[in-house]
Amino acid sequence: MIYMSDVSKVYSNGSVALADVTVEIGKGDFIFVVGPSGAGKSTFIKLIFREELPTSGRLVVNGRNVVDMMPKEVPYLRRGLGIVFQDYRLLPNKTVYDNVAFAMQVIESSRREMQKRVHNVLDLVGLRHKVRTYPSELSGGEQQRVAIARAIVNNPVVVIADEPTGNLDPDTSWEIMKVFDTINKAGTTIVMATHDKTVVDAMKKRVIAIEKGRIVRDQVKGVYGYED
Ligand code: ADP
Ligand code: ADP
Repeated sequence: MIYMSDVSKVYSNGSVALADVTVEIGKGDFIFVVGPSGAGKSTFIKLIFREELPTSGRLVVNGRNVVDMMPKEVPYLRRGLGIVFQDYRLLPNKTVYDNVAFAMQVIESSRREMQKRVHNVLDLVGLRHKVRTYPSELSGGEQQRVAIARAIVNNPVVVIADEPTGNLDPDTSWEIMKVFDTINKAGTTIVMATHDKTVVDAMKKRVIAIEKGRIVRDQVKGVYGYED
């Protein structure tokens, strides 16, 4: 699903964010990316959706060569991905329904079909009853559920998330993790950068630890491994 080979990323100011990273992520995997601040986790995530390009190395995501991709191919890459951020990034002037519907590919799906899909994903995240509300009327956890609904409405093969519970209290974080677990059990690959030690230790998923731009650990049923 995702294949990185000798990938390095050096920012224009000379910061080496990733150095010679080689890793393979399979279909249906659930991966936690952990490591200290500044280790390169966000950069790892950004390369996958081509927010940043590698300085060197090979990167294939969902069968597409991300490095040699023509600019016009980028939207096709991103349509196969769902992206969730720490700060939700919802459109404040749109309702929950419109935030999710807005993300839908307007391929030849009928209005009726579109409504059905939006309602289905809102059911999945437990927010169907909030369909007419605006983001400012929702708690942080609810806003993140909307963001997850938006991320999965196009049935992506991979959902990538950068610190999705970073702004949430522990109970709410658990609820959000259960949603990701449900999505993963339906076959979607999940790649999540996180500092949530409790969640990582409890969920026993594959853990990739990055330090100073290098993968220092790749465990099948991994632990967080840091004290923060
Ligand atoms: P993490 O997500 O683990 O905190 P990042 O991937 O954000 O790590 O950062 C890795 C390194 O790259 C850090 O040294 C950081 O300062 C640097 N870095 C990240 N983004 C940029 C950027 N846009 N320009 C320059 N340096 C950056
Ligand atoms: P949480 O316990 O998850 O932090 P809150 O206490 O923030 O949740 O919100 C509880 C409920 O009140 C939620 O259903 C939320 O949608 C609703 N709510 C919170 N803030 C507002 C608001 N400003 N206007 C309308 N409803 C709100």
